[in-house]
Amino acid sequence: MSILAAMAEHEHEQVVFWSDKAAELKAIIAIHDTTLGPALGGVRMWPYASETEALFDVLRLSAGMTYKSAAAGLNLGGGKAVIIADPSMKSEALYRSFGRFVESLGGRYITAEDVNTSMDDIMQIREETNYVAGLPESVGGGGDPSPFTALGALEGIKISVLKKLGLKSLRDITVAVQGAAGHVGTHLCELLHQEGAQLIVSDMNENGVAKIVEQFGATVVGLDEIYSVDAQVFAPCALGAIVNDQTIAQFKFSVIAGPANNQLLDESRHGALLRERNILYAPDYIINAGGVINCYYEVVNEYVRESIVKKVKGIYSTLEKIYDIADEQNVATPVAARHFAEQRIAIISKVRRHYLG
Ligand code: NAD
Repeated sequence: MSILAAMAEHEHEQVVFWSDKAAELKAIIAIHDTTLGPALGGVRMWPYASETEALFDVLRLSAGMTYKSAAAGLNLGGGKAVIIADPSMKSEALYRSFGRFVESLGGRYITAEDVNTSMDDIMQIREETNYVAGLPESVGGGGDPSPFTALGALEGIKISVLKKLGLKSLRDITVAVQGAAGHVGTHLCELLHQEGAQLIVSDMNENGVAKIVEQFGATVVGLDEIYSVDAQVFAPCALGAIVNDQTIAQFKFSVIAGPANNQLLDESRHGALLRERNILYAPDYIINAGGVINCYYEVVNEYVRESIVKKVKGIYSTLEKIYDIADEQNVATPVAARHFAEQRIAIISKVRRHYLG
Protein backbone atom coordinates (compact mmCIF):
# COMPACT_ATOMS: atom_id res chain seq x y z
CA MET A 1 0.00 0.00 0.00
CA SER A 2 1.33 3.48 -0.82
CA ILE A 3 1.85 6.01 1.96
CA LEU A 4 -0.95 8.23 0.69
CA ALA A 5 -3.31 5.26 0.49
CA ALA A 6 -2.41 4.30 4.05
CA MET A 7 -3.06 7.90 5.15
CA ALA A 8 -6.38 7.97 3.34
CA GLU A 9 -7.56 4.77 5.00
CA HIS A 10 -8.03 6.45 8.39
CA GLU A 11 -8.07 10.03 7.09
CA HIS A 12 -4.67 11.13 8.38
CA GLU A 13 -3.91 14.77 7.65
CA GLN A 14 -0.15 14.75 7.47
CA VAL A 15 2.79 12.37 7.76
CA VAL A 16 6.28 13.80 7.89
CA PHE A 17 9.64 12.03 7.73
CA TRP A 18 12.90 13.33 9.16
CA SER A 19 16.40 12.04 8.59
CA ASP A 20 19.49 13.46 10.24
CA LYS A 21 22.56 11.42 9.50
CA ALA A 22 24.84 13.30 11.88
CA ALA A 23 22.45 12.76 14.80
CA GLU A 24 21.65 9.18 13.69
CA LEU A 25 17.96 10.05 13.75
CA LYS A 26 15.24 8.57 11.58
CA ALA A 27 11.81 9.65 12.71
CA ILE A 28 8.21 9.91 11.54
CA ILE A 29 5.50 12.21 12.88
CA ALA A 30 1.90 11.41 11.99
CA ILE A 31 -0.81 13.99 12.49
CA HIS A 32 -4.16 12.28 12.32
CA ASP A 33 -6.71 15.01 12.93
CA THR A 34 -6.45 18.61 14.16
CA THR A 35 -10.14 19.53 14.05
CA LEU A 36 -10.22 20.06 17.81
CA GLY A 37 -6.73 21.48 18.30
CA PRO A 38 -3.02 20.72 17.95
CA ALA A 39 -2.14 17.07 17.62
CA LEU A 40 -0.73 15.80 20.90
CA GLY A 41 0.88 12.42 21.40
CA GLY A 42 4.07 10.87 22.72
CA VAL A 43 7.24 9.97 20.88
CA ARG A 44 8.05 6.27 20.92
CA MET A 45 11.57 4.94 20.37
CA TRP A 46 11.55 1.43 18.96
CA PRO A 47 13.91 -0.70 16.85
CA TYR A 48 11.29 -1.32 14.16
CA ALA A 49 12.19 -4.13 11.78
CA SER A 50 11.24 -1.96 8.81
CA GLU A 51 10.12 1.55 7.88
CA THR A 52 6.75 0.11 6.89
CA GLU A 53 6.28 -1.32 10.38
CA ALA A 54 7.18 2.06 11.91
CA LEU A 55 4.81 3.86 9.57
CA PHE A 56 1.85 1.61 10.38
CA ASP A 57 2.53 1.91 14.11
CA VAL A 58 2.65 5.70 14.01
CA LEU A 59 -0.52 5.85 11.89
CA ARG A 60 -2.37 3.55 14.29
CA LEU A 61 -1.16 5.31 17.44
CA SER A 62 -1.86 8.83 16.17
CA ALA A 63 -5.46 7.95 15.26
CA GLY A 64 -5.89 6.51 18.75
CA MET A 65 -4.81 9.84 20.25
CA THR A 66 -7.47 11.70 18.26
CA TYR A 67 -10.24 9.57 19.74
CA LYS A 68 -8.77 9.63 23.24
CA SER A 69 -8.58 13.43 23.42
CA ALA A 70 -11.87 13.96 21.62
CA ALA A 71 -13.77 11.66 23.98
CA ALA A 72 -12.10 13.26 27.00
CA GLY A 73 -13.57 16.61 25.93
CA LEU A 74 -10.17 18.20 25.25
CA ASN A 75 -9.36 20.72 22.55
CA LEU A 76 -6.60 18.55 21.18
CA GLY A 77 -6.12 16.60 18.00
CA GLY A 78 -4.29 13.32 17.64
CA GLY A 79 -0.68 12.79 16.68
CA LYS A 80 2.24 10.55 17.46
CA ALA A 81 5.91 10.24 16.63
CA VAL A 82 8.23 7.28 16.27
CA ILE A 83 12.00 7.25 16.32
CA ILE A 84 13.35 4.20 14.51
CA ALA A 85 16.22 3.18 16.79
CA ASP A 86 17.22 0.92 19.60
CA PRO A 87 17.03 2.74 22.97
CA SER A 88 20.79 2.15 23.34
CA MET A 89 21.25 4.74 20.55
CA LYS A 90 19.87 7.59 22.65
CA SER A 91 21.98 10.74 22.55
CA GLU A 92 21.64 14.45 23.11
CA ALA A 93 22.10 15.07 19.37
CA LEU A 94 19.34 12.59 18.47
CA TYR A 95 16.78 14.17 20.80
CA ARG A 96 17.74 17.73 19.91
CA SER A 97 17.42 16.87 16.25
CA PHE A 98 14.00 15.41 17.01
CA GLY A 99 13.19 18.70 18.78
CA ARG A 100 14.07 20.59 15.57
CA PHE A 101 11.72 18.25 13.70
CA VAL A 102 8.85 19.01 16.10
CA GLU A 103 9.61 22.74 15.92
CA SER A 104 9.47 22.63 12.12
CA LEU A 105 5.77 21.78 12.32
CA GLY A 106 5.05 25.10 14.02
CA GLY A 107 2.83 23.71 16.79
CA ARG A 108 0.65 21.40 14.73
CA TYR A 109 2.20 18.56 16.75
CA ILE A 110 3.05 18.56 20.47
CA THR A 111 5.26 15.77 21.71
CA ALA A 112 5.41 13.96 25.07
CA GLU A 113 6.79 10.85 26.80
CA ASP A 114 6.05 7.38 25.47
CA VAL A 115 7.62 3.93 25.35
CA ASN A 116 11.43 4.28 25.73
CA THR A 117 11.26 8.09 25.96
CA SER A 118 11.89 9.41 29.44
CA MET A 119 11.45 12.78 31.09
CA ASP A 120 15.21 13.41 30.62
CA ASP A 121 14.81 12.82 26.89
CA ILE A 122 11.87 15.22 26.79
CA MET A 123 14.01 17.85 28.49
CA GLN A 124 16.56 17.51 25.68
CA ILE A 125 13.83 17.85 23.05
CA ARG A 126 12.72 20.97 24.89
CA GLU A 127 16.11 22.60 24.21
CA GLU A 128 14.89 22.97 20.61
CA THR A 129 11.13 23.38 20.85
CA ASN A 130 8.43 24.49 23.25
CA TYR A 131 5.94 22.09 21.70
CA VAL A 132 6.40 19.53 24.46
CA ALA A 133 4.06 18.40 27.24
CA GLY A 134 4.33 16.26 30.34
CA LEU A 135 7.22 18.24 31.78
CA PRO A 136 8.47 17.95 35.36
CA GLU A 137 6.96 20.23 37.99
CA SER A 138 10.38 21.91 38.43
CA VAL A 139 9.99 23.58 35.01
CA GLY A 140 6.29 24.38 35.34
CA GLY A 141 4.93 21.09 34.02
CA GLY A 142 2.41 18.72 35.49
CA GLY A 143 4.89 16.06 36.56
CA ASP A 144 4.01 12.39 36.85
CA PRO A 145 0.55 11.83 35.31
CA SER A 146 0.08 8.43 37.01
CA PRO A 147 -1.98 9.68 39.99
CA PHE A 148 -4.46 11.30 37.58
CA THR A 149 -4.58 8.22 35.39
CA ALA A 150 -5.30 6.12 38.49
CA LEU A 151 -8.02 8.53 39.63
CA GLY A 152 -9.70 8.29 36.21
CA ALA A 153 -9.47 4.51 36.35
CA LEU A 154 -11.11 4.49 39.79
CA GLU A 155 -13.99 6.61 38.47
CA GLY A 156 -14.29 4.24 35.51
CA ILE A 157 -14.42 1.23 37.81
CA LYS A 158 -17.12 2.91 39.92
CA ILE A 159 -19.48 3.60 37.02
CA SER A 160 -18.82 0.17 35.52
CA VAL A 161 -19.64 -1.56 38.81
CA LEU A 162 -22.81 0.50 39.15
CA LYS A 163 -23.83 -0.24 35.58
CA LYS A 164 -23.06 -3.95 35.63
CA LEU A 165 -23.69 -4.98 39.23
CA GLY A 166 -25.99 -2.21 40.43
CA LEU A 167 -23.63 -1.40 43.32
CA LYS A 168 -22.97 2.19 44.35
CA SER A 169 -19.96 1.31 46.46
CA LEU A 170 -16.83 -0.73 45.91
CA ARG A 171 -16.90 -1.93 49.52
CA ASP A 172 -17.78 -5.56 48.77
CA ILE A 173 -16.04 -5.74 45.44
CA THR A 174 -12.91 -7.73 44.62
CA VAL A 175 -10.66 -6.19 41.99
CA ALA A 176 -7.87 -8.12 40.23
CA VAL A 177 -5.07 -5.66 39.46
CA GLN A 178 -2.46 -6.75 36.92
CA GLY A 179 0.75 -4.68 37.15
CA ALA A 180 -0.10 -3.56 40.68
CA ALA A 181 3.45 -2.40 41.44
CA GLY A 182 3.69 -0.04 38.46
CA HIS A 183 3.23 3.73 38.50
CA VAL A 184 -0.51 3.68 37.87
CA GLY A 185 -1.10 0.29 39.49
CA THR A 186 0.25 1.40 42.87
CA HIS A 187 -1.89 4.54 42.94
CA LEU A 188 -4.94 2.60 41.81
CA CYS A 189 -4.45 -0.05 44.52
CA GLU A 190 -4.28 2.70 47.12
CA LEU A 191 -7.48 4.36 45.88
CA LEU A 192 -9.33 1.04 45.66
CA HIS A 193 -8.17 0.14 49.17
CA GLN A 194 -9.49 3.50 50.44
CA GLU A 195 -12.86 2.65 48.85
CA GLY A 196 -12.91 -0.64 50.77
CA ALA A 197 -12.36 -2.96 47.80
CA GLN A 198 -10.50 -6.26 48.21
CA LEU A 199 -7.45 -6.66 46.01
CA ILE A 200 -5.95 -9.61 44.15
CA VAL A 201 -2.71 -8.53 42.51
CA SER A 202 0.07 -9.66 40.19
CA ASP A 203 3.33 -8.09 39.07
CA MET A 204 6.75 -9.20 37.82
CA ASN A 205 8.33 -6.88 40.35
CA GLU A 206 8.33 -9.11 43.44
CA ASN A 207 9.55 -6.44 45.88
CA GLY A 208 7.05 -3.94 44.57
CA VAL A 209 4.14 -6.34 44.83
CA ALA A 210 5.20 -7.35 48.36
CA LYS A 211 4.75 -3.70 49.38
CA ILE A 212 1.24 -3.65 47.89
CA VAL A 213 0.39 -6.78 49.88
CA GLU A 214 1.72 -5.22 53.05
CA GLN A 215 0.18 -1.76 52.59
CA PHE A 216 -3.24 -2.71 51.25
CA GLY A 217 -3.79 -6.26 52.46
CA ALA A 218 -3.81 -7.55 48.90
CA THR A 219 -3.59 -11.21 47.90
CA VAL A 220 -0.83 -11.91 45.40
CA VAL A 221 -1.18 -14.46 42.58
CA GLY A 222 1.10 -15.63 39.76
CA LEU A 223 1.41 -13.74 36.47
CA ASP A 224 -0.80 -16.16 34.56
CA GLU A 225 -3.18 -16.85 37.44
CA ILE A 226 -4.62 -13.33 37.47
CA TYR A 227 -6.88 -14.10 34.49
CA SER A 228 -8.85 -16.79 36.27
CA VAL A 229 -9.24 -15.44 39.82
CA ASP A 230 -12.61 -14.93 41.47
CA ALA A 231 -13.04 -11.18 41.24
CA GLN A 232 -15.86 -9.03 39.90
CA VAL A 233 -13.49 -6.55 38.28
CA PHE A 234 -10.29 -6.99 36.28
CA ALA A 235 -8.12 -3.84 36.17
CA PRO A 236 -5.23 -4.30 33.70
CA CYS A 237 -2.37 -1.90 34.58
CA ALA A 238 0.51 -3.48 32.70
CA LEU A 239 0.51 -4.89 29.21
CA GLY A 240 -1.48 -4.60 26.01
CA ALA A 241 -3.26 -7.44 24.16
CA ILE A 242 -4.05 -9.28 27.42
CA VAL A 243 -7.70 -9.65 26.45
CA ASN A 244 -7.60 -12.38 23.84
CA ASP A 245 -9.13 -15.78 23.03
CA GLN A 246 -7.03 -17.58 25.66
CA THR A 247 -7.68 -15.17 28.52
CA ILE A 248 -11.37 -14.51 27.79
CA ALA A 249 -11.96 -18.25 28.13
CA GLN A 250 -10.63 -18.04 31.71
CA PHE A 251 -12.44 -14.87 32.84
CA LYS A 252 -14.96 -15.00 35.68
CA PHE A 253 -15.03 -11.20 35.81
CA SER A 254 -18.16 -9.12 35.25
CA VAL A 255 -16.23 -5.95 34.45
CA ILE A 256 -12.92 -5.14 32.76
CA ALA A 257 -11.90 -1.61 33.66
CA GLY A 258 -8.29 -0.55 33.95
CA PRO A 259 -5.76 1.90 32.52
CA ALA A 260 -3.44 -0.29 30.38
CA ASN A 261 -3.27 0.74 26.73
CA ASN A 262 -4.50 -1.48 23.88
CA GLN A 263 -5.98 -4.17 26.12
CA LEU A 264 -7.91 -5.98 23.39
CA LEU A 265 -5.77 -8.02 21.02
CA ASP A 266 -8.37 -7.40 18.31
CA GLU A 267 -10.58 -4.45 19.23
CA SER A 268 -13.49 -5.42 17.05
CA ARG A 269 -13.51 -9.20 17.58
CA HIS A 270 -12.66 -9.26 21.29
CA GLY A 271 -14.93 -6.30 22.03
CA ALA A 272 -17.79 -8.30 20.51
CA LEU A 273 -16.75 -11.48 22.32
CA LEU A 274 -16.77 -9.73 25.71
CA ARG A 275 -20.23 -8.41 24.98
CA GLU A 276 -21.37 -11.91 24.06
CA ARG A 277 -19.95 -13.19 27.34
CA ASN A 278 -21.83 -10.48 29.22
CA ILE A 279 -18.61 -8.85 30.47
CA LEU A 280 -18.73 -5.07 30.59
CA TYR A 281 -15.56 -3.58 29.07
CA ALA A 282 -14.54 0.02 29.76
CA PRO A 283 -12.71 1.06 26.56
CA ASP A 284 -9.07 1.65 27.55
CA TYR A 285 -8.55 5.00 25.88
CA ILE A 286 -11.61 6.38 27.66
CA ILE A 287 -10.77 5.16 31.17
CA ASN A 288 -7.04 6.00 30.92
CA ALA A 289 -7.44 9.59 29.69
CA GLY A 290 -6.22 11.04 33.02
CA GLY A 291 -2.67 11.32 31.67
CA VAL A 292 -3.61 13.26 28.55
CA ILE A 293 -5.95 15.48 30.57
CA ASN A 294 -2.97 16.33 32.78
CA CYS A 295 -0.92 17.22 29.69
CA TYR A 296 -3.71 19.32 28.23
CA TYR A 297 -3.86 21.72 31.16
CA GLU A 298 -0.11 22.15 30.88
CA VAL A 299 -0.39 22.92 27.15
CA VAL A 300 -3.07 25.58 27.65
CA ASN A 301 -1.16 27.11 30.58
CA GLU A 302 -3.99 26.54 33.02
CA TYR A 303 -2.35 24.06 35.30
CA VAL A 304 -4.76 24.18 38.24
CA ARG A 305 -5.06 20.93 40.17
CA GLU A 306 -8.77 21.36 40.93
CA SER A 307 -9.64 21.78 37.24
CA ILE A 308 -7.68 18.67 36.36
CA VAL A 309 -9.25 16.57 39.10
CA LYS A 310 -12.71 17.72 37.99
CA LYS A 311 -12.02 16.87 34.37
CA VAL A 312 -10.52 13.48 35.28
CA LYS A 313 -13.54 12.67 37.43
CA GLY A 314 -15.62 13.40 34.32
CA ILE A 315 -14.44 10.03 32.99
CA TYR A 316 -17.28 8.62 35.12
CA SER A 317 -19.98 10.41 33.12
CA THR A 318 -18.20 9.92 29.80
CA LEU A 319 -18.25 6.17 30.34
CA GLU A 320 -21.86 6.32 31.47
CA LYS A 321 -22.78 7.97 28.14
CA ILE A 322 -20.76 5.40 26.20
CA TYR A 323 -22.52 2.53 27.99
CA ASP A 324 -25.87 4.16 27.15
CA ILE A 325 -24.88 4.41 23.47
CA ALA A 326 -23.82 0.75 23.51
CA ASP A 327 -27.22 -0.22 24.94
CA GLU A 328 -29.24 1.97 22.59
CA GLN A 329 -27.36 0.89 19.47
CA ASN A 330 -26.89 -2.70 20.58
CA VAL A 331 -23.16 -2.58 19.97
CA ALA A 332 -19.99 -3.43 21.87
CA THR A 333 -18.53 -0.67 24.05
CA PRO A 334 -15.46 0.00 21.80
CA VAL A 335 -17.85 0.71 18.93
CA ALA A 336 -19.87 3.05 21.14
CA ALA A 337 -16.68 4.83 22.31
CA ARG A 338 -15.57 5.48 18.75
CA HIS A 339 -19.03 6.78 17.88
CA PHE A 340 -18.96 9.10 20.90
CA ALA A 341 -15.54 10.54 19.98
CA GLU A 342 -16.36 10.91 16.29
CA GLN A 343 -19.61 12.65 17.10
CA ARG A 344 -17.81 15.34 19.12
CA ILE A 345 -15.30 15.93 16.31
CA ALA A 346 -18.12 16.17 13.74
CA ILE A 347 -20.16 18.61 15.81
CA ILE A 348 -17.21 20.91 16.61
CA SER A 349 -16.16 20.76 13.00
CA LYS A 350 -19.60 22.08 12.01
CA VAL A 351 -19.44 24.82 14.65
CA ARG A 352 -16.11 25.95 13.22
CA ARG A 353 -17.20 26.08 9.58
CA HIS A 354 -18.35 29.71 9.85
CA TYR A 355 -16.04 32.41 8.54
CA LEU A 356 -15.72 35.07 11.21
CA GLY A 357 -13.79 37.68 9.26
P1 NAD B 1 4.82 0.92 34.64
O1 NAD B 1 5.87 0.40 33.74
O2 NAD B 1 5.19 1.84 35.74
O3 NAD B 1 4.01 -0.29 35.29
C1 NAD B 1 3.75 -1.50 34.65
C2 NAD B 1 3.86 -2.60 35.70
O4 NAD B 1 3.47 -3.81 35.09
C3 NAD B 1 5.29 -2.80 36.23
O5 NAD B 1 5.27 -2.84 37.64
C4 NAD B 1 5.69 -4.16 35.65
O6 NAD B 1 6.55 -4.90 36.50
C5 NAD B 1 4.33 -4.83 35.52
N1 NAD B 1 4.29 -5.93 34.56
C6 NAD B 1 4.94 -6.08 33.40
N2 NAD B 1 4.61 -7.25 32.83
C7 NAD B 1 3.72 -7.86 33.65
C8 NAD B 1 3.01 -9.09 33.61
N3 NAD B 1 3.15 -9.96 32.61
N4 NAD B 1 2.16 -9.37 34.62
C9 NAD B 1 2.01 -8.52 35.66
N5 NAD B 1 2.68 -7.35 35.75
C10 NAD B 1 3.51 -7.02 34.76
O7 NAD B 1 3.73 1.59 33.66
P2 NAD B 1 2.58 2.62 34.06
O8 NAD B 1 3.03 4.00 33.73
O9 NAD B 1 2.07 2.30 35.41
O10 NAD B 1 1.48 2.25 32.97
C11 NAD B 1 0.72 1.04 33.08
C12 NAD B 1 -0.21 0.91 31.88
O11 NAD B 1 -1.09 2.03 31.82
C13 NAD B 1 0.52 0.89 30.54
O12 NAD B 1 -0.21 0.08 29.65
C14 NAD B 1 0.44 2.33 30.08
O13 NAD B 1 0.54 2.45 28.68
C15 NAD B 1 -0.95 2.71 30.58
N6 NAD B 1 -1.11 4.14 30.80
C16 NAD B 1 -0.36 4.80 31.71
C17 NAD B 1 -0.54 6.15 31.92
C18 NAD B 1 0.24 6.89 32.96
O14 NAD B 1 -0.18 7.98 33.39
N7 NAD B 1 1.36 6.35 33.43
C19 NAD B 1 -1.51 6.87 31.18
C20 NAD B 1 -2.29 6.16 30.24
C21 NAD B 1 -2.09 4.79 30.07
